[in-house]
Amino acid sequence: MKRVGESQLHYIIRKTGRKPISCKCKLCQQQCHQACLGTPQDIMRLIEAGYKDRLAPTAWAAGMIMGCTDHIVPMVQPLVDGEWCTFFHDGLCELHDKGLKPTEGKLSHHSMRLADWTPKKSIAWNVAQEWEEPRNREIMKAIIAELNNDANQSIM
Ligand code: SF4
Repeated sequence: MKRVGESQLHYIIRKTGRKPISCKCKLCQQQCHQACLGTPQDIMRLIEAGYKDRLAPTAWAAGMIMGCTDHIVPMVQPLVDGEWCTFFHDGLCELHDKGLKPTEGKLSHHSMRLADWTPKKSIAWNVAQEWEEPRNREIMKAIIAELNNDANQSIM
């Protein structure tokens, strides 16, 4: 599927068939036990907003379990503090009102049913592919440089 003059978010919306949605129900809250996945651009926006300390490199292996890919995808995502994503407080996402919620969180909703799921339309997989997208190489390098500056950690 070609990305013709459209934003990254719209491209992922078109590929997944999901639209931005907001819901505070218990089922949706359960999704925040794990950090929702952001594209490199989402993560750079969080760094620019001062949230660098709440992010960390991660090796995304869920795609292998889901049968989307045969390898781990290295990326940088929000930390999980204990049982919840670092941005989850009292049932709410700290990033929501700031417009900084990562793409998976923007598009995910409790109404998504397993019966409708296909690897091609998986939000997580479509976001993960942005971490392998050659056009995102520069922004990924900038993210790594930002994280390396602070923690002196070698990632990716
Ligand atoms: S960033 Fe927000 S929506 Fe995403 S998992 Fe964390 S609290 Fe939930």
